[in-house]
Amino acid sequence: MAALLFSSTNGQSPAVNLREAFLRGQAPDRGLYFPEKFPTLAPEEIAAFAKLPYHEIAFRVLSKYTDGIIPSDVLATLCRDAYNFEIPLEKVYDRVCVMRLDQGPTASFKDFAARMMARLMGKFLHEDGKQLTILTATSGDTGAAVAHAFHNVPGIRVIVLFPINEISMSQRKLMTTLSDNVRTVAIDGKFDDCQAMVKQAFADPALKHIPLSSANSINIGRLLPQSVYYFYAASRLAQPGEPIVFSVPSGNFGDMMGAVVARQMGLPVKKLIVPVNDNDAFPRFLATGVYQKISPSRNSVSNAMNVGHPSNLARLVAVYSGRIDETGKIHQQPDLAAMRRDLFSSSISDQRTRETIREVWNKYELLLEAHGAVAWRGFQDWLATEPLSGLPAVILETANPAKFPEEIEKTIGFAPDVPPAMTAAIKLPEDFDRMGADYEKFREYLIQRHIN
Ligand SMILES: *Cc1c(COP(=O)(O)O)cnc(C)c1O
Repeated sequence: MAALLFSSTNGQSPAVNLREAFLRGQAPDRGLYFPEKFPTLAPEEIAAFAKLPYHEIAFRVLSKYTDGIIPSDVLATLCRDAYNFEIPLEKVYDRVCVMRLDQGPTASFKDFAARMMARLMGKFLHEDGKQLTILTATSGDTGAAVAHAFHNVPGIRVIVLFPINEISMSQRKLMTTLSDNVRTVAIDGKFDDCQAMVKQAFADPALKHIPLSSANSINIGRLLPQSVYYFYAASRLAQPGEPIVFSVPSGNFGDMMGAVVARQMGLPVKKLIVPVNDNDAFPRFLATGVYQKISPSRNSVSNAMNVGHPSNLARLVAVYSGRIDETGKIHQQPDLAAMRRDLFSSSISDQRTRETIREVWNKYELLLEAHGAVAWRGFQDWLATEPLSGLPAVILETANPAKFPEEIEKTIGFAPDVPPAMTAAIKLPEDFDRMGADYEKFREYLIQRHIN
């Protein structure tokens, strides 16, 4: 069988195989890698998932992409090793459930992708005998998930930049207490500043001697593992062939693209709901066909979704035969009618987010944090436009409420229970560097760290 090829959404770079797409991150033409043609799962293959544990479903989905690149026994071991935690599906009413993707070591859904990515990257680097520095900017959860996933992976150093005043203390402690091959740098600035510094480093000729890679959601290696939990949820809740509804709180649109990938591979999805916070570029685009990114991005209580221009939009638009570049310029309009048939999106203000946390707690004794509350409210917005007709629906809770104790306490009057993995991290001593949003200083820092 010929290896699957990945082409760039900008259409100006040659197609490459998974290994290369993975190690490069972004395509040379600044587009994003995406499969030229999706592998599919037959209805019987999907039906068989009903009896399988999560890691086995992960293996069967991902092996469609890794054929000829990773031996299947190796992939099976990686999946078993990466996915050793619970994925609770909590019934709320009728066939409406909340899927908690917050039981990994850093209590956000980003563990699912980061843990697989670190294992694959470690394997590829080992084969090549190479060293690599993973440089990443975080608005809260990515940094912690990446730092944990790559902690003590041989051949890899991790440097995480975070905005000192924009993340919660629990989010911070999950990355500043690791040490060894992980360094964290607090920036006196906004997330946008951190991201700009990282981008500048990637483009800096003075750093050419330092092999750098990113672990952000533009990497196809982060996207593919995020398709697995949609298959998993359907395997537990839907009859064979029965369509399902998902609501996915969205920032960079990496998580929702996992559902799009699952659908392209054959999973029946009735509607994919993609609620956002005040950063409402996408729902406006869906309604009007005019795309205008939000710059600078707006701060909101669902801080991991403070994204003014979702990087994965290029992939979503490509699925609907359009083309949008990394600056947000549309070169070819996607099939908007088809997008509106498949997707629904609304913007949820902080006020509605907090009201939702309160309402869902009072009505169902179900504790959501802000990101999950955006998903819940977006689902309700959709229900006002179309009936669910007895189908199963899954609302994704993407972080553990214990990551935001101050916010939860302010909203419902008590602090959430802290899961054991987090209690341990919170007790360890913190160690991080600190600097202003000054690129020259950061360059010097990278050069120094590379020597030592
Ligand atoms: C990153 C993140 C999101 C947004 O996911 P995207 O893939 O960027 O759309 C939502 N919730 C939480 C808790 C996150 O950490």
